[in-house]
Formats: sequence, structure tokens, C-alpha cells
Amino acid sequence: MAKINKIVIANRGEIALRLIRAAREMGIATVAVHSTADADSMHARLADEAVCIGPPPSKDSYLDKRAIMSVAELTGADAIHPGVGFLAENQEFAEMVEAHDLIFVGPSPRHLGLMGDKIAAKQAAIEAGLPVVPGSDGAISDVDEARKLARDIGYPVLIKAASGGGGRGMKVARSDEELESALSTASREAKAAFGDPVVYIEKYLDNPRHIEIQILADAHGNVIHLGERDCSVQRRHQKVVEEAPSPALSEELRAEIGQRTADAVKFLGYRSVGTVEYLYQDGEFYFIEMNTRLQVEHPVTEMITGLDLVEHQIRVAAGEKLSLRQEDVKFDGHAFELRVNAEHPFNFMPSPGLVTAYHPPGGVGVRVDSHMFAGYRMPPHYDSLAGKIIVRARDRELAIKRCLRALMETHIDGITTNLELHDFILRQDAFRSGDITIHWLEQALEEREVAAGAGK
Ligand code: ADP
Repeated sequence: MAKINKIVIANRGEIALRLIRAAREMGIATVAVHSTADADSMHARLADEAVCIGPPPSKDSYLDKRAIMSVAELTGADAIHPGVGFLAENQEFAEMVEAHDLIFVGPSPRHLGLMGDKIAAKQAAIEAGLPVVPGSDGAISDVDEARKLARDIGYPVLIKAASGGGGRGMKVARSDEELESALSTASREAKAAFGDPVVYIEKYLDNPRHIEIQILADAHGNVIHLGERDCSVQRRHQKVVEEAPSPALSEELRAEIGQRTADAVKFLGYRSVGTVEYLYQDGEFYFIEMNTRLQVEHPVTEMITGLDLVEHQIRVAAGEKLSLRQEDVKFDGHAFELRVNAEHPFNFMPSPGLVTAYHPPGGVGVRVDSHMFAGYRMPPHYDSLAGKIIVRARDRELAIKRCLRALMETHIDGITTNLELHDFILRQDAFRSGDITIHWLEQALEEREVAAGAGK
């Protein structure tokens, strides 16, 4: 079995800190890479070594495969952890890493390729016995073909980009008239965002929840699931608050969908951590995609299982057998994650800049994963995630109170953040009852606007 002594952390921000923390506890030396914009950042400071790999734009630094390979070579690292985003799901990069006899902390390049193509992924899910959203079997290019299919599955339909991600490149069509322009807009946007115009069609589900299953698999065919996360609180198809367990699932249903997912992932021969995402409506699950990496929201699973997912991910990448069996996994309590973004809470304008004061919340059941500090200048070049407040309590009701308490303690000056949005969400009756869908937050925000307008 390969032993990992030194690992390159090919990422930035809070996730880079998360990886450095796990590696340090495992006795693995860390090498941070950073752009010139991040020279002063916490990940560059906390790693054992730090190497500058280029100017601020991601394509010239965090996405520069060769620069990162050189860092691994020059520092004598034996593994590269890509984190979340950037090169995490890049098949070519994983191949490059393996071609240099280094360990890519993630799945095989083949699985990155398979799941990176959402049409192929859906096909693989069907073969593995998972239920999928009804839709086209493959790419759709012809309007007549699209129209026939849309009528068969019934409007509304969703046009999705085969190479999509981050909730981008999706268009809803509610009638024949809307279909043609939705097709061409989606395809154009997909080409611009992902360099790939290929789109496909799915039935647009009106009232689903987003429920995803966390998988942990080794290279020896052992696969377990770590339960679900409910990520129904979304804006523009992007997650805002995540929780575990889902208020919508019974213990039996959890065990059933968890086992079914683990069996499918075993069938596919997958190794590493991974997440199978489903929409859940009227008691039915529909596969939408598999993320072949660690997820931003992984801490909610850690909070209720007591496991370190990054530690296990690194261990299986080194070839170790899973040290856990399914029956060893126990769920205890309820957890939430609030994504703290440097943006206006209600108009969502980004607000990077100098953090002049920072006081994170603390106390029982509160975990903060953030790279912020007083004096930190948040660069405008990257995503707006400034940190995550993760809370655990014995039940959902107390966890919500604890979230509100944590928010009240948090002070971030200099930049605008979305803390107030979280406060708003946590106080809504629908959210408190747990009875929401992926469309709930946008509707609640609209109602808030209308009420504010009426109050003027
Ligand atoms: P991405 O890779 O861009 O994140 P996903 O396929 O994971 O795309 O979908 C992201 C979100 O888009 C889902 O969580 C859900 O809110 C919405 N979505 C995706 N597919 C459908 C669908 N068929 N019907 C309704 N909403 C959908």
C-alpha cells in the first residue's frame, strides 16, 4: 500500500484549511499552492510549505495543471488533493497526476469522465439500477425531436447542459412556444460557460426536495453510505442551507435509499468519497447527478456521524481498506450548515474586500470552517464563500435555535455578508416545520419583497 507523506493542497479558501487540518492530524506534511492574490491567505500560512503558482485569475493559477504538477515534483510530494471545485473533477488532471506516479485523492480518472458527462452519468445510473428523472436518452439537438419528447413526458420540461455544474446552463420550458428559444439559449449558455453546447431534456419537477446520499468507497469493492443531506434551501439552483438528517425521510426510507445507492456505486466500481444527488417528490427518488468529490456541505454529515470524511478519503486514496462497516455508522442528532457568502443578503451583489473585524461564533455544538481573519482582504477573483457555520444539536428544533444563537454572535465588519439572509430563513414557519421544496426560498424572498414594497 502506498504511504502518503506529503500532500499538495490544490485549492484555496476554507476548503484548503479543511484539508490541511485533516492531513496534519494524520501526520502528513502539506504544501499549499496560491495565486499572488492569496499570498497572505490563511491556507498559505497554515501549510508546512507554500508555493506561488501564478497571477490571480484561476486559469493562470488554481487551474494551471502544469504549475501544480511542478510544485508536487519540486517539493517531493506523493499526493495531490484537489479539494472542491477547480480541478477536483478534471479527468485530464487526474490522469496527469497518476501518470507521474502520484496519488490523486479522488476517484479514478475514468469515473471523473463518466460522471462529468451528465448524459453518460444518467445512463450509468440506469444501468446501476437507480431511478432517474424521465427525459431524453441522450443529447437533444433537433427542435422537432425535442417537441415530441416534451409532449410525451409532459410540460414543464427542463433543458440541462451535459457538462453543467453549479446550477448553471438550465432553462425551463412550459410550452411548445417556449421550447425552441429555451433550447437555443441553454445550448448557447452551455457553450459559453462549459465550452460544450450539448444539452438534454428532463421532466421539470414542480415540488421536489434535493436529497443527496454521501458515499464512502475503497479500492477493494467496499462501499458504505453515510446517510443523506437535505439541500432543498436553494437560490438559482445553488445551495444556501444544508441539513442532516432530512426532515422528509423516515429511518426505513433512509436505510433503503442509502443501501440502494451504495449498491449502485459498488456496481460502478467507484472508489473515494462521492455524493449521489436525487430529487425527491411524492415519495419517489430521481437521480440527477453524482458528484465525484468532497462536497462543500460534507461537515453536516461529519457532525452527526462523528467521522472525518477527509481522513477517510485520504486513506482510501492511499489504498487502505475501509475501516468501517455499514453497521458501524451511527447517526446522532441534527446538523445544519449555513453558507456565509460575501454578498448582500437580499440583492446578492458580491462584496469582496477588506475584513476589518471578525468574531466567529462558538460554544457547544458550533463549528466554523472559514479562512477569514481580521485584516484579510477577500479577493474579487474567486467565489464568494467566506466560510460555513455548522451547528449540531440533539434535535432539529434545538439546532435551529443554536443556529440563531450562533448568527447573533457572529461579527464580520468591512465586507457585506449574507448573515441576515440566514436569520430570515431560520425564522420562517415553513422552514421551521421542515415542509419545503427546492423552490421555497425563492418564493419566500419574493413574498418578502412584496411585503417590503407594500410597507413603503
Ligand atoms: P448542477 O450540476 O448544475 O448542480 P444538478 O443536476 O445537480 O445541476 O441540479 C442542480 C439543481 O437544479 C437541483 O438541486 C434542483 O434544484 C434543480 N434541478 C435539477 N434537475 C431538475 C429537474 N428535473 N426538475 C426540477 N429541478 C431540477
